[in-house]
Amino acid sequence: LGRHKNDDRSTYFEYNGVRFGQETLNVFAGLCAVDTIEHVEMMMKVLREHDQVCTRMGAYKPRTSPYSFQGHGKTCLPYVFDLAGKYGIKVIAMEITHESHLEEIRNALYQTGNATGVMLQIGTRNTQNFELLKIVGRQQTFPVLIKRGFGITLDESLNAAEYLASEGNRKVIFGLRGMKTNMGDPHRNFVDFSHVPVVKRLTRMPVCIDPSHSVGTRAGSPDGILDIMHVTAQGIVAGANMVLVDFHPAPANALVDGPQALLMKELPQFLEDVQIAREAY
Ligand code: PEP
Repeated sequence: LGRHKNDDRSTYFEYNGVRFGQETLNVFAGLCAVDTIEHVEMMMKVLREHDQVCTRMGAYKPRTSPYSFQGHGKTCLPYVFDLAGKYGIKVIAMEITHESHLEEIRNALYQTGNATGVMLQIGTRNTQNFELLKIVGRQQTFPVLIKRGFGITLDESLNAAEYLASEGNRKVIFGLRGMKTNMGDPHRNFVDFSHVPVVKRLTRMPVCIDPSHSVGTRAGSPDGILDIMHVTAQGIVAGANMVLVDFHPAPANALVDGPQALLMKELPQFLEDVQIAREAY
């Protein structure tokens, strides 16, 4: 991915008809966590209406508390993949937290006719789970979005991404999702999107921004522009290649991260802002 002195291969790739590279831009708007089949369908229907072919759908959720909703796991996969096929979704970003999830996803995709593709997500809590990285790196079927570790150096996170490539999988995207600090930030995490060009300079990976987990709240300026929208634009102007962003039909009822979810009716404005920022890049 750019950190091995003898390796200068490109990391551009195409997956299920969608192109990924350091020059492309893909939006993955969707549910942080799958809760009901109705919400999945509402989300995918709206995405279809706005010509979106990618989404995010969380089935396996790594939660800080063991008493919080942990995700529906494999039980939701059949309807998520069925609905993705119905609404023309080509790629779903989905976090896995254990190697067994790979097989569950493979089986469910097969049983639902492989109508959609999955981008495996390694979350910030697993960035240095090296055994999981090696297993995910050994498979070539699915591309991987690896998030920066929220409490380690950038260098350590970039080396974590190399674990995937060193095992054979070079379809890797690097995700910025904010860093933990103890300074009582206005946001859930310290937004690190100024590192987009840095990562693109240091490696050949496409870079994803996750404004939802970085900002963590619907707070905004008095003129009504949400901070999530502001930082999304900043990340895109800085050269981001992918945007992972949470939406929900009823954020108050969301089982995970409701306070940071954008409303479905905000999707058109969000996509328009993405386009404007991209033109400014
Ligand atoms: C997520 O994208 O759902 C998530 C949990 O992100 P992170 O690993 O960045 O916290």
